[in-house]
Parts: sequence; structure tokens; C-alpha cells
Amino acid sequence: MNDDQLLRYSRHILLAELGVEGQEKLLAAHALIIGAGGLGSPAALYLASAGVGRITLADGDTVDLTNLQRQILHASASVGRPKAASGRDALARLNPEVRVTALEERLDLERLDALVGDATVVLDCSDNFATRHAVNRACVRHRRPLVSGAAVRFDGQVAVFDLRRPDSACYACLFPESGESEDVRCAVMGVFAPLTGIIGSIQAAEALKILAGAGETLAGRLLLLDALAMQVRTITLRKDPACAVCGT
Ligand SMILES: [Zn+2]
Repeated sequence: MNDDQLLRYSRHILLAELGVEGQEKLLAAHALIIGAGGLGSPAALYLASAGVGRITLADGDTVDLTNLQRQILHASASVGRPKAASGRDALARLNPEVRVTALEERLDLERLDALVGDATVVLDCSDNFATRHAVNRACVRHRRPLVSGAAVRFDGQVAVFDLRRPDSACYACLFPESGESEDVRCAVMGVFAPLTGIIGSIQAAEALKILAGAGETLAGRLLLLDALAMQVRTITLRKDPACAVCGT
């Protein structure tokens, strides 16, 4: 690290659990963020401010006026622009040292597989089950840690599937691909603005801990937040030996 980096990241370096060594791990890492919306916005901002060396931000949508109530990566002037490019520009203003790749596309399976294989950690900030399951499959195949988040109305959830561990559950152990889960679109259900900030920030915290090897992550647990009552609970997740994706 040069002098500027030692200053920029000094409040991390002061943390015994991170230190110079942990910060260097962040600088050497590559985070893949799927979705530059409500969850991807705070997640990407914190990973960039914290100095994650490479960030790939994938989103096939363009910024809509209805997004700005919660998708804090984007501003009024970005309406109509691709979210990935708008996000890349915002991250560059925050921390020009971070190498950000903007992918303005819906990733097909092959592309997703290559990107996950190249990532150190994957953040699922998407808003639909098809993408979640595709991301999960690629993470299981490449044994990449997956930080999964969801937020709708006043309800949020976060889970870490540390697929580097052979006993880790995967997203499909929790929500089987054949299940009857229906996408709950925030377009019709509404979403409380700071909820996505809270959940996306927890995703960033978990990703940074995974990258730095600090503390205890949410691996094996699902955190559920009711922002209306402001109550948090966690439930234990277990690997399903019969899981169609990660089972033997
Ligand atoms: Zn599984």
C-alpha cells in the first residue's frame, strides 16, 4: 500500500481484526455483484469505499425514475442510462482506485459461470428466482462464497452460503428450484427505502468479512429482518443431502 492508501483505509487498518493484512486481502479481491438496484447500490458503494480491488457490476436494466427512492447508486441525471454504467461512474467518483467492470446485460448461464469462476466472492443482489438459482448453481460449481440478500415491503433477509466448505448449505437447499416460490415484485408490492440499504449493507459487511477472513459470517444462518417492528432473528440453515444442486 502507498501512503494515500494507508490514509484512505486507515480506519480499517486500525481494526485489529482487519489490519494491514486484511486490507491487502480486500485490495487483492474481486467481488461479483449481480444487480445494481436497491441491494446492489449500498453493497457496491461499501465494497468500493472499503477498497475491494476489483468489482464487477452486472445489471441489464436502465435507471427508472421509480428506482431513485432506494437505489442510491443512481441519481436523477442517470434516468434512462444503463444501471451498470451509472453504477460504475458512481463508484469511480467514490474511489477511483477500484477497477470496476460494468456489464450491461442479463447474464446467460455460460457467462455467469465464467464470471463466478473468476470472482473471490459473489453478492446476489438480484430480484428474481431464476437469477438467484443460476447464480447459486455457478457458486456451487466453483465453490465460491455466496452472499444472498432479498428485500420487499418491510421484510428483508440475508444468508451466506460459504460453498468453500463441503458441509455448506446452498440457496437451493433453502428454496428448491422446483419449489413454488413466486417472485414478489417490488413494482407491485412496494419496498421501504432504507430496508434495501440495511440489507445491502449487511451483504457488504459479510462479503468484507469473508474476504478478510475476519469474525464469524452468517454462513449456515438466515437473518430475517422485520423493519416495521425492527426485529431481527436468525434461523439455522442445514445442507439438504437430497438437494438437486449441491446434494451428493
Ligand atoms: Zn443445496
